[in-house]
Amino acid sequence: MIEKFSDPILVSKTYLPDKLKFDALTEQLWKSRWLTNNGYFHNEFSEKLKQFLRVSNLTLFTNGTLALDIAIKAFKLKGEIITTPFTFVATAHAISLNNIKPVFCDIELNTFNIDPNKIESLITENTSAILPVHVFGNPCAIDQIQKIADKYKLKVIYDAAHAFNVFIDGKSIVEFGDASMLSFHATKVFHTIEGGALVYPNSKLEKKFYLYKNFGIENEDVISMVGTNAKMNEFQAIMGLLNLEIVEDEIMKRKNIVDRYKRNLDNVAGISYIKDIPNVKHNWAYFPILVEQDKFGYFRDELYNKLKDYNVFARKYFYPLCSNIEPYRNMAKTDLSNANYVAQRVMTLPLYGDLSLSDVDKICLIIDSIRKK
Ligand SMILES: *Cc1c(COP(=O)(O)O)cnc(C)c1O
Repeated sequence: MIEKFSDPILVSKTYLPDKLKFDALTEQLWKSRWLTNNGYFHNEFSEKLKQFLRVSNLTLFTNGTLALDIAIKAFKLKGEIITTPFTFVATAHAISLNNIKPVFCDIELNTFNIDPNKIESLITENTSAILPVHVFGNPCAIDQIQKIADKYKLKVIYDAAHAFNVFIDGKSIVEFGDASMLSFHATKVFHTIEGGALVYPNSKLEKKFYLYKNFGIENEDVISMVGTNAKMNEFQAIMGLLNLEIVEDEIMKRKNIVDRYKRNLDNVAGISYIKDIPNVKHNWAYFPILVEQDKFGYFRDELYNKLKDYNVFARKYFYPLCSNIEPYRNMAKTDLSNANYVAQRVMTLPLYGDLSLSDVDKICLIIDSIRKK
């Protein structure tokens, strides 16, 4: 009989920088009284982030959803955008809020990402872009997706909300496509409380993205276009600057935890996970598992509920599928059988740098003890 954890183990726990360092930097704001609008720390963070990610063009935003929204607007997309149903709802909502129809494409079973072989059949004369998601930080089939986009003259915008610090053959994953969106929400592997960024190859977009996030204001006298308010403030930027100093440490801790999970769960029938990809530098942002009832003895929801009895709170990411939620479920859809298969079986286990390896061992023992033998 394994005893339950005395304190709840949640799926994630936000890390914070040293409080004295945060106090020291924010102290400067009490002197300058410059809290937002392209402040000193905003600009410093933007430069440091570019160096860290080894990218040339980057614009900061107040959150990832507005960054994605602005990318869709700046590229003047319309009609239909092909995307994945296996994602956080913000992906589909950013499309819909622009009066564009999200067309859901099925996913691959080995990466949970959009299946490039199923994209072409969904393209119509109304398609303006492909919006894939690097789900759980695992890179999409970028070459194949770009080939399709080139053939049909479509834009490619990546939702890279999970893919901070992921590199493929030494190149940052956010350097592919026409733009990539990063999210720095408190639950992500790197955070600025709330925050986001767009990374893009075409430097001419910088001005446009700036105008979109700042009401279209060029200068005191000229307001050249309609824009919104999506600026990152100085408190967010300070959090970002300080978290940049510790994020690699956080990622290494997560790697150790994930390695431990894998080692322990390799012996548990009915539990599987996504394999690392050889030429990819991963960020171990999440640890999703699939629960196969025929071998494990219980369905995902049953394991999920039984874990709660032990004070372990996993999450059903991503369930329900975007294609099955109220705003989208009555749309005509093609075969999404892989996406439905994964959404019924997937669950992410607790993962954060401070999670001890002995707690990981215990979570795995609990899972093994629940399995019907
Ligand atoms: C978190 C997330 C978003 C939204 O980012 P915010 O910064 O919270 O607005 C979008 N897409 C995916 C896949 C996400 O996980």
